[in-house]
Amino acid sequence: MCVEAVPPPSRSLTRRGVLAGAAALAGTLAAAGPVAAAGNDTTATDRRAPGAPGRPGRLVIRGGTLLDPATGEVIENAVVVIEDGTVRATGRRGDVAVPRGVEVLDAHGRWILPGLVDAHIHLSTAAEARDAVRKGATSARSGSTSFYQDIAVRELARHSPALAPRLRAAGVFVTPNLGDTVLADPDLTPLAGLKDGVRTADALRRVVEVNVARGADVIKTRVNERAGLPEQDPLAQVYSREQLAEIVAAAGRRGKGVLCHSYSEQGCHDAVMAGVRSLEHGVFVGERTLREMRRRGTCFTPTLTAIAGLAESSDPILAERGRAYLPVLERAVLAAHELGVPLAAGTDSSGGVVDPIGGEVELMHAAGLTTLDAIRTATTGAARLLGLERTAGRLTRGYAGDAILLNGDPLTDLGVLKQPVAVVRAGVLV
Ligand SMILES: [Zn+2]
Repeated sequence: MCVEAVPPPSRSLTRRGVLAGAAALAGTLAAAGPVAAAGNDTTATDRRAPGAPGRPGRLVIRGGTLLDPATGEVIENAVVVIEDGTVRATGRRGDVAVPRGVEVLDAHGRWILPGLVDAHIHLSTAAEARDAVRKGATSARSGSTSFYQDIAVRELARHSPALAPRLRAAGVFVTPNLGDTVLADPDLTPLAGLKDGVRTADALRRVVEVNVARGADVIKTRVNERAGLPEQDPLAQVYSREQLAEIVAAAGRRGKGVLCHSYSEQGCHDAVMAGVRSLEHGVFVGERTLREMRRRGTCFTPTLTAIAGLAESSDPILAERGRAYLPVLERAVLAAHELGVPLAAGTDSSGGVVDPIGGEVELMHAAGLTTLDAIRTATTGAARLLGLERTAGRLTRGYAGDAILLNGDPLTDLGVLKQPVAVVRAGVLV
C-alpha cells in the first residue's frame, strides 16, 4: 500500500465560488434573482428569477385517472392543482376548488402518476438532463460524472425545472484510478502522483472532501471492477471493507450517504458491512447480505436496464456476460423484495443515451414484483432513498408538482410508463 502524503486542500476554493461557476456553465447566472423558491427542495442556494421561463408554475391537471403509489388508491376524473411548483390540492373533480385563470392540462383518457425517480443516472450534458425529464424522470440521483457536470445539472434544475430532473449530485467517482478526473479540481491533481492510486485513508478522504466542497449531495464509490468493459473482471474487488469504511466515515462526517458499485457476493457483503446507503448493480448479492441489508435498511438499486443492455452488446464477451447475469440479478431482486429490502429503480444511463426509467419498472415487474410494487421502486421507494420522501413519489398536497400522463393503465400494462404523453416538472409542462 502506498504511503505518499497528500498535501492539504487549498482554502481558496469555496463552495459559493464553485456554484457560481456551475451556474455560469449552465448559462443561467444572468437570470438569477433574489426570489424565494417553493419550499420543497433542500438547499438554500435555490433561487429563481421572476418571469424566467423555468419558473415553477401554476397548472391544473384535470380529468384523468390518478394513481397514488403510496396507497395504491385510484381516483377517477381527478384534479391536481399545482401552484408555485407545489401540489396544493388533489381529489375528485368537483371536490377540489380550482383557482381561476390557471392553465389547464386536460388529462381525459389518461392516467396521472407522480413524476418518476431514476436513482442511478450519469447526467453529463444538458441534452441528457433534458432527455431524462422528457422520458419521465423528474427526480434523480447521480451515479457520478467525470468533471462535476452533475452539480451544474442540479443547479440547472433549480433555475429551470423543465430542463433537468431535481438531482442528488455525486460529483466524481471515488475509485483507485481517477484518470482524467484528476483535472476536475486543483485539489485532486496531487492524487495523480500516487503510485498505487486512490487507496490510502488520506487519499480516499481527499476525494470525498473535495466532492463535498464542490457541493456533492452523495458519494459514489465501488467495491468491484466494471461489467461494461470486456477486459475487466466485475467480480474482482478493488477496495477492502476497511477502505470502504473509510469512505463511508468521511462521507458520514459531512452528512452524506454512499452508493456503491458492486457485483460479487463478497464485495456486496463488505460494502453493506462498511455501511453504504445503497448497493448498485449487486448481481451476485447473496442471502446473508440481503438479510443484513434488511436489518440496516440498506437499499438495492439493481439497474436491470444496464445489465439487460449488456446482453444486447455487439461485443461477444459483454453480450455473454449480460445474458448470464440478467437471470441471476432477477432472482436477487425478487429475493430482496420478498425479504423486505428496499428497492430503487435506476437505469445507469450514460454516454448520451438516456434509457426511460419506465423500462426499469417493467424489468422490476419481469423479475417478479407486482405492477404496483414495481411502480413504487421508481416513486415512493426511490424517493425515500434520495431523502425526497416528502417531495417526490406522490401527488398529494405539499409534494412537488411533478407528474406524468400515460396513455393507459400502468397497473395492467407497465409498457405505457416508457412513453409518457406529457411530463410536468414543478408545475411546468415540459
Ligand atoms: Zn453507474
